[in-house]
Amino acid sequence: MEAVREPRIIVIGAGVAGITTAYVLQKAGFTDFTVLEKGSDVGGVWHWNHYPGLTCDVPSQIYQFGFAPKPDWSKIWSSGPEIQRYHRDVAERFGLMDRIRLNTEVAGAVFDDAAGTWTVTLAGDDERPGEELTADFVVCATGVLQNPSIPDIPGLDTFAGPVVHTARWDDDLATDGKRIAVIGTGSTGVQVVSALQPRAATITHFTRTPQWILWAPMSLPQVPLAGTVLKAFPAAHDALYRGLLWGSGILADIVRNDTWRRHAVQKYARLSLRAQISDDALREDLTPDYQPLCKRQVVSGTYYRAIRADNAELITDAIVEVTPDGIVTADGTRHDVDVIVLATGFRAHDYMRPMTVVGRDGLTIDEAWAEGPRAYRMTAIPGFPNLFTVLGPNSPTGSISLQHTAEKTARYLVSWFDAFRRGDADRIEVTEEATAEFNAQVREALEPTIWNTGGCNSWYFTESGVVDLWPFDRATLDAMLAEPEPAHYRVTRTEQLRSVRPGVGAE
Ligand code: NAP
Repeated sequence: MEAVREPRIIVIGAGVAGITTAYVLQKAGFTDFTVLEKGSDVGGVWHWNHYPGLTCDVPSQIYQFGFAPKPDWSKIWSSGPEIQRYHRDVAERFGLMDRIRLNTEVAGAVFDDAAGTWTVTLAGDDERPGEELTADFVVCATGVLQNPSIPDIPGLDTFAGPVVHTARWDDDLATDGKRIAVIGTGSTGVQVVSALQPRAATITHFTRTPQWILWAPMSLPQVPLAGTVLKAFPAAHDALYRGLLWGSGILADIVRNDTWRRHAVQKYARLSLRAQISDDALREDLTPDYQPLCKRQVVSGTYYRAIRADNAELITDAIVEVTPDGIVTADGTRHDVDVIVLATGFRAHDYMRPMTVVGRDGLTIDEAWAEGPRAYRMTAIPGFPNLFTVLGPNSPTGSISLQHTAEKTARYLVSWFDAFRRGDADRIEVTEEATAEFNAQVREALEPTIWNTGGCNSWYFTESGVVDLWPFDRATLDAMLAEPEPAHYRVTRTEQLRSVRPGVGAE
């Protein structure tokens, strides 16, 4: 009988990437893996974000795990709470909750050069130091949009009323009948303004850069019979999912290629604005000076109606300071408000942070990424043996299904974990050359994309001015993650399998 040794695997994060990884590991027969999640529930962004109006602008029949199709979504574009329930349900249904430690924040992970293992330290408190766990592999499924960006506005901390970031919404916050300021015009700002406007005394939307907004009937229900039919015929459901996956290839095409398809969507964005805003001055204020699709496209069926309402106002003057009573803009106007909502997005390139991650020879992730995040095929980082990311740098956003990408990546990692299990690989580290070559390909492919040429600034750009997205189509993604290419890695083998070791746990 072939001898096996079970790799000890720690997955950090129980969002889309972490749940997928746990499912794939379980399916592949791994028995010694633990998912550490700092939140009180699974779901990642869907756990942390629960602001009013939260909806996913990707249709639910494709915004789902390929391995856990849900036939009976209530809407075509489901609400945040329904999506969050789905994540919880999937984790429970597949028996993954036993693997997941909630309320467990990782403070740091350090590679032990001599032992070839990772020491993962959990956050401690004043009374106890953090627990230490040992693993053969660490998988960072820590997400992209996880660290809220709090704007550095003078006087923000002097405001007398509540200040809330959308990603840390306070469910007890009273907004009805209040004078509400919303800062930020991304997907979140547009959704929260639409949701709060009807019952606010006033809503003042501070917009530094307007966004193109595609109109779509976001509250459209899924026909109830559709759920029954898809449940009764799983093969049809699978075909629908595969069809949508294939059809979404059009998105990858329009961002990459300057064709009539891109122009048609851009025309539709302009039409969406023209058709809904007849007031010339307001339309001018809402008109971006860059091309549609350059930023992450905003989709809404309600925002233009909300901002036209009598109790709504759009402010384009820059914010200069916050006072205890409100917000002062560059034209000297004081806008008195009761509540300030920060829809100011995320520090999107702070993958893994604030964890300290120390790889081979004491190399920290901050040092390795001094010029911005950089990985090989979204998953491997030179200098960090036996550590991988799922939905790491260059993962697609809005163009290819994240769930699909996470599953492909997790399956790719299984190849390495299997090699470890068989004793064929001990220490696995991607080479600098392969990483540099991949990043050169990415840069070249990003050149003509609308993200790069559309004339906007967006969270897609890293501090060094590089777009951190996936510039290829899905077929390329699938091919790149089909099987590890051994020539791209430095793999160390031990001749003898180590004796049976304790599972992941306190040393
Ligand atoms: P975002 O797209 O990064 O937008 C942040 C907004 O805040 C921008 O309008 C930005 O203005 C503004 N801002 C930031 N700092 C500011 C400051 N100091 N003063 C004034 N304005 C400031 O963030 P987001 O709306 O949270 O969306 C982030 C991503 O989350 C989306 O792109 C999308 O990928 C995802 N998301 C998805 C959905 C969905 O339905 N699937 C919903 C919500 C979010 P500038 O443009 O001038 O920088």
